[in-house]
Amino acid sequence: MQPLETPLDLLVVAPHPDDAEISTGGTIVTSRRQGLRVGVVELTNGEPTPNGTIERRAAETAASTTVLDLTWRHMLGLPNRQLRDDIEARRALATVFRLTRPKIILAPYWEDSHPDHVAASQLVDAARFWSKLSRTDIPGEPYHPPRIFYFWSIHLRIHPKPAFVLDIGDAIEAKLDAVRCYESQRLDVSRDGLPSIVDDIRDRARYWGWTIGRHYAEPFAAREELGVRSFRELVPLT
Ligand SMILES: [Zn+2]
Repeated sequence: MQPLETPLDLLVVAPHPDDAEISTGGTIVTSRRQGLRVGVVELTNGEPTPNGTIERRAAETAASTTVLDLTWRHMLGLPNRQLRDDIEARRALATVFRLTRPKIILAPYWEDSHPDHVAASQLVDAARFWSKLSRTDIPGEPYHPPRIFYFWSIHLRIHPKPAFVLDIGDAIEAKLDAVRCYESQRLDVSRDGLPSIVDDIRDRARYWGWTIGRHYAEPFAAREELGVRSFRELVPLT
């Protein structure tokens, strides 16, 4: 992995291919349209799954990368289903942080029913700390990513209480197009006559849009407080 000449504004850390699209696809598309440099790092290749292969999943990821217009994407190759916040994984992810120098990291929320997502959340926090260490053999220069925000996945049906909600407007269609690239995961297939996962994703984005009086939105959590210097940063004042 080579260091980026221009740092990323936003880096999404996804345990598996499709997680970035499902939870932050609208945010990615909206941010790219605003001119931000956005990257995604997958921690694992996501296989095995019932209908996937490593090659098929990689092709689906490439197709989605085009839809999202990503600035940068990389798959770290950590073990799927066995993801852990261990020394090797910390070193690998800290290397990514040091070589891409993102201003904001989007990470999985710390509570989830999928153990890989819980481990990924812990791993991001630990790797952020490791990224700033000096006198280490981690590649790149010491760097402390200033902000981490957390996104919710689809496994655990809880009621999120976000720190903020990001308006994604008409980027919902591009988000769903990106999600549909993962055909092997059957995300748009209805089961037992119930709405498909793609339907659920759209409905939830519409709900979060409703909470802020907009069409569609995505929610994010924060552990650290968000400081502002002026009320103008919260509401545009004339
Ligand atoms: Zn996942």
